[in-house]
Amino acid sequence: MFDYLIVGAGFAGSVLAERLATRSNKKVLVVDKRNHIAGNAYDHYNEEGILVHKYGPHIFHTNSKDVFEYLSDFTDWRPYEHRVLASVDGQLVPMPINLDTINKLYGLKLNSFEVEEFFASVAEQVPVVRTSEDVVVSKVGRELYEKFFRNYTRKQWGMDPSELDKSVTSRVPTRTNRDDRYFTDTYQAMPLHGYTRMFERLLDHPNIKVMLNTDYHDIIDFIPFKEMIFTGPVDEFFDFQYGKLPYRSLEFKHETLNTENYLAAPVVNYPNDNLYTRITEFKALTGQQHPKTAIVYEYPKAEGDPYYPVPRLENAELYNKYKKLADETPNVHFVGRLATYKYYNMDQVVAQALTLYKKLTATPTEEASK
Ligand code: FAD
Ligand code: UDP
Repeated sequence: MFDYLIVGAGFAGSVLAERLATRSNKKVLVVDKRNHIAGNAYDHYNEEGILVHKYGPHIFHTNSKDVFEYLSDFTDWRPYEHRVLASVDGQLVPMPINLDTINKLYGLKLNSFEVEEFFASVAEQVPVVRTSEDVVVSKVGRELYEKFFRNYTRKQWGMDPSELDKSVTSRVPTRTNRDDRYFTDTYQAMPLHGYTRMFERLLDHPNIKVMLNTDYHDIIDFIPFKEMIFTGPVDEFFDFQYGKLPYRSLEFKHETLNTENYLAAPVVNYPNDNLYTRITEFKALTGQQHPKTAIVYEYPKAEGDPYYPVPRLENAELYNKYKKLADETPNVHFVGRLATYKYYNMDQVVAQALTLYKKLTATPTEEASK
């Protein structure tokens, strides 16, 4: 008899397995239908011996000391600050848009104050910022929106930024200084030996059993357990009874090139050209030395593995119906990016899992005092 059946060996499932097994002495079975652990953060050495991320570039960044310290028990880190260039008007310019982006794009020599004035002069008045279009045009105006955001977003999401919640493009700031880092979080680092190695350590405990290549439907009637933690798509769990929640998918085209270095930056975004959104060169993220280099192209698509919940009002309303069902389902706990339909980064999923662990193990008095 297992205390917990955990569906999914990604961040949500593995963090809960680790906590329940090591801190609460619970017997845990983790199942994943894929042939590997680590969920979408899975990395592996390709046929040429280069460490690649199977499901696209995963860069760890967080402002949470708790999350960083928690994961530090399972990995050493390689300090890494991510940088991205965007290919716009035949030039490669820093993304997020900063002072250097504007100067290079328009052949200017503005300083920080002048670029602030420039943004103010082109910004559109938007009384209430609601959509992903509003966010950008209210800060940098329509021309820069068209050059950097509109087409990228249409490609990535299959819809116009005006149809997406403001939270999507709000992920990318605008700067008037020369800071060209993609993130400004306090902690920015890559697991020194990769994500999969970190997950192996998270799951390495006598109380944890992992079954791969196993859809939970195939075992649920045969393996006794007390409670379930579910990290797959919430609509699938409930047999799509209110209809399908849209998830955006991607096709990853991996290549190994017979050259030591390929891109001018770890990631290059292509807002306006090509069917792919961006190219990533993995050695730039991992610091690996190798005479060849491995890259991945990301081609967005509607069907396929669910990767991105689509943040917009009608989807949030549909999710709320599933959430109500989830809340009413005894002994099943929903956590993670797919099960709670949230566009979460890795650190947010870790935080969510740690919070659920606390809730699951709170004594009745602690619960009552909340
Ligand atoms: P997942 O990792 O999706 O794990 C869920 C697991 O459940 C999967 O392995 C799945 O196979 C399994 N499962 C589902 N249904 C079943 C079933 N019926 N039976 C058995 N198993 C099942 N975050 C960052 O912080 N930084 C980044 O740079 C970053 N880049 C990203 C790039 C891309 C292209 C994508 C798609 C995501 C990126 N993320 C990034 C987000 C990150 O991947 C997620 O936040 C995180 O992996 C979510 O973990 P999870 O455990 O919720 O879900
Ligand atoms: N975005 C864009 N142009 C860019 C980069 C991002 O329009 O060059 C928009 C796009 O809608 C994207 C969102 O901002 O989906 C968030 O970007 P981020 O890089 O955070 O996406 P992720 O890494 O999660 O795919």
